[in-house]
Amino acid sequence: MPRLRVRDTLTQRKVAVTPRPRKPVTMYVCGVTPYDSGHMGHAFTFSIFDVLVRYLEANGVRVRYVQNVTDVDDPLFERARRDDIDWRELADRETKVHIRDMTVLGWRAPDFMPRVSEEIPRILSAAAKLKASRHAYQTDALYFDTHTYRGYGRLSHRTRRSMIRKLREEDLLGRVGPDAKRDALDFPLWRASKPGEPAWPSRFGDGRPGWHIECSVMAMRYLGPQIDIHGGGRDLIFSHHESERAQSESLTGDAPFARAWVHTGMVRYNGRKMSKSLGNLVKVSQALQRAPAAAVRLYLVSHRYRRDWNFDWNALARAARFVERMRKFLADDAREGKRGAVPGRALMAEFNRALADDLDTPRAVRALRAALRQKDAAAVRAMRDVLIGTASLT
Ligand SMILES: [Zn+2]
Repeated sequence: MPRLRVRDTLTQRKVAVTPRPRKPVTMYVCGVTPYDSGHMGHAFTFSIFDVLVRYLEANGVRVRYVQNVTDVDDPLFERARRDDIDWRELADRETKVHIRDMTVLGWRAPDFMPRVSEEIPRILSAAAKLKASRHAYQTDALYFDTHTYRGYGRLSHRTRRSMIRKLREEDLLGRVGPDAKRDALDFPLWRASKPGEPAWPSRFGDGRPGWHIECSVMAMRYLGPQIDIHGGGRDLIFSHHESERAQSESLTGDAPFARAWVHTGMVRYNGRKMSKSLGNLVKVSQALQRAPAAAVRLYLVSHRYRRDWNFDWNALARAARFVERMRKFLADDAREGKRGAVPGRALMAEFNRALADDLDTPRAVRALRAALRQKDAAAVRAMRDVLIGTASLT
């Protein structure tokens, strides 16, 4: 197998993903905040990381994969209040929708899907450790002191001004003052809950965790102090991953926390980023009404993972026609009983080279098309298993 190289957001270089002796490749991908059922942007990110897992596993590399569920978060509580529903009920329901969507889209489920609400004691002990080592201070909340970490801003390649601007845009800036943050870039590790929100007792006062600490804690609990791949959508680079990196390395003293930071692009619809606030979401369930799951999945992974792209129904219909040709071909081949043939070496070499080169899925999809043209059923099956997983062809 050609050695997998992925582009690392921190160094802006392609880095090799090499399993350490007798260890699986460890991967942590930031999952959903379960308050609105999954749209194509989510499905794109998780399908891309699924191709990564399946590529490694198809080549005999073990993978240990964690994807968290952020069930303690502002937008979730706001939605629960708006709809007059218990936040736990909303989170449970929407987590199920997410898992159902991704199961239909053929993923190899993560090994662990921890929820923030179940990790509170570990989050509190990490917060206490950061306070004891003077990386955190307490005023109206417990804040991480970004001045104690060299290189805050390096992952996102942003200036201080640009970081502050993004915090303001996302309504995360908060207040600087003697009874609040010392610096605009500091962020809460633990804070008081608003009325109606869950609150857990702690030595820092009853309250709940800030956004970023959960991922440091869960990544370390399930994967250890240093991980091979940390993934997520590009919108998470700042402030979420920037902060996660600072906390994690401050907690353990081990750097790097992640050997490769891998980020996926945004999916647009009608020219604008799909987002709840713009009301231009295409949900997975809507796409599945118009095309087989394998077509939706193939359409998603036919895009280069780092680029932004525009969702287009006509392109989905073209993917569906291709999947139908593939289905017919595989059904005819199965009837003729030629299973067990060895896939063509040149075809598979091209397919593996494509994915090894920073997960070039569009090129891998072209290899799949070539395998179908050459009527190489074994190659079509092998490539389908990696690109589409277990998604249904009908
Ligand atoms: Zn995260």
